[in-house]
Amino acid sequence: MKKIAIIGCGISGLYFANKLLSKRIYDFTIYEKKSEIDLNDGYGIQLSVNSIKLLNEIGFNNITANEIFFPKRVNFFDAKTCKKICEIDISKFNSENKRYTTLKRSILIKFLLNNIPAGKIKSNLEVTRVEHSDKVKLHFSNNAIEEFDYLVVSDGIFSKTKSIILEKDVSPQFFNSVALRGNIKNIDNNDISLYLGPNFHFVIYPVNQNKEFNFISIIRKKLKNNEIFNQKFFENREFLKSLRNEIYQKTSLDLADKLENIKSFPVYVSKKFADCNYKNIYFIGDALFSFPPSFAQGASQSIEAANEAFEEINNNTYSYYKKRRLKIKKVNLRSKLNHFLFHLSNPISILFRNFILKKLTNSKFFLNNYLGKIYRD
Ligand SMILES: Cc1cc2nc3c(=O)[nH]c(=O)nc-3n(C[C@H](O)[C@H](O)[C@H](O)COP(=O)(O)OP(=O)(O)OC[C@H]3O[C@@H](n4cnc5c(N)ncnc54)[C@H](O)[C@@H]3O)c2cc1C
Repeated sequence: MKKIAIIGCGISGLYFANKLLSKRIYDFTIYEKKSEIDLNDGYGIQLSVNSIKLLNEIGFNNITANEIFFPKRVNFFDAKTCKKICEIDISKFNSENKRYTTLKRSILIKFLLNNIPAGKIKSNLEVTRVEHSDKVKLHFSNNAIEEFDYLVVSDGIFSKTKSIILEKDVSPQFFNSVALRGNIKNIDNNDISLYLGPNFHFVIYPVNQNKEFNFISIIRKKLKNNEIFNQKFFENREFLKSLRNEIYQKTSLDLADKLENIKSFPVYVSKKFADCNYKNIYFIGDALFSFPPSFAQGASQSIEAANEAFEEINNNTYSYYKKRRLKIKKVNLRSKLNHFLFHLSNPISILFRNFILKKLTNSKFFLNNYLGKIYRD
């Protein structure tokens, strides 16, 4: 039996573990830093058909229907006037059982945890040292040492394990943006609504069939180092109030009193793609690369990467990092372009952008290239 260590119990690590369960030739353990996994998070996540296809391979198509939603369109609005600019029919990329899906992140995590035997997850543990030969020897924070055939690193955007392996600091950089998340109930909206404003955008979408909605806004903000690294700063009531008011003042959509469970956090992105020369070590998910959140591909790419790492180990091939680098380049470019276009502030540039958006969103050729190449290829 091949012995595999998975570091981090997030979307990518759990998807990878589910794939291993489909074969009986792997013995794996997931090591998680936290003492418990948060299953009450009500915030939403969007999954495009590329990841839904992979999730269906592990039974996602059997998930309870009222816990997920299938939006058909992305509607673009001017945040100030709430006038519709254009729309994209994302259902064009759907096929039977593979539909663009929105849901609560906690529902996805619960689904991914469902088949994993409890004894396979070891909590409160971190890797402190990695020794590499034909096998991988891991030293843990409880002083235990264990040897594995493969190491899969899925400990998220601040991957400490990756820095240990590469023997350099691979910390992400602050993207000069802050995310504001919340929940909204009972509004009339069956699609993904994207509101574009100067230096900010926000998105509202249903997360299930029970009239619960996710609100996420990305607001450009230059912050000082002592603010960026201070979690208390982002939890501060006055800061949250100032972010909320900033949005309320710039949109005619009535959000006041509707937003609940508001939280803010800094947005980080990877500086550059860093692969690994060791054939039995895989970085997956945000630990491999983290994108600006304006293309909603983080989780979908995490699942794709986990699947590719699994295929590589299973088929004994060696093209994982080469393939990933190409796909990540495409997704990163689109995420950065979206972020730039969504946040334009000059009125003439905005007029021009809206004109181009109307044209492009009606072009089959453009949509197949811009979205199809990510969702289908
Ligand atoms: C504002 C925002 C909105 C987003 N919206 C979307 C969206 O709509 N659609 C989408 O596809 N993606 C979205 N994403 C991105 C998506 O959430 C991430 O890409 C995805 O969760 C990454 O999964 P992961 O498994 O790599 O990491 P994570 O989900 O972060 O999991 C990492 C796990 O590793 C654990 N860990 C950390 N350090 C250690 C350690 N040293 N040792 C052991 N364990 C450790 C953590 O506790 C955690 O459990 C969004 C991101 C942001 C910031």
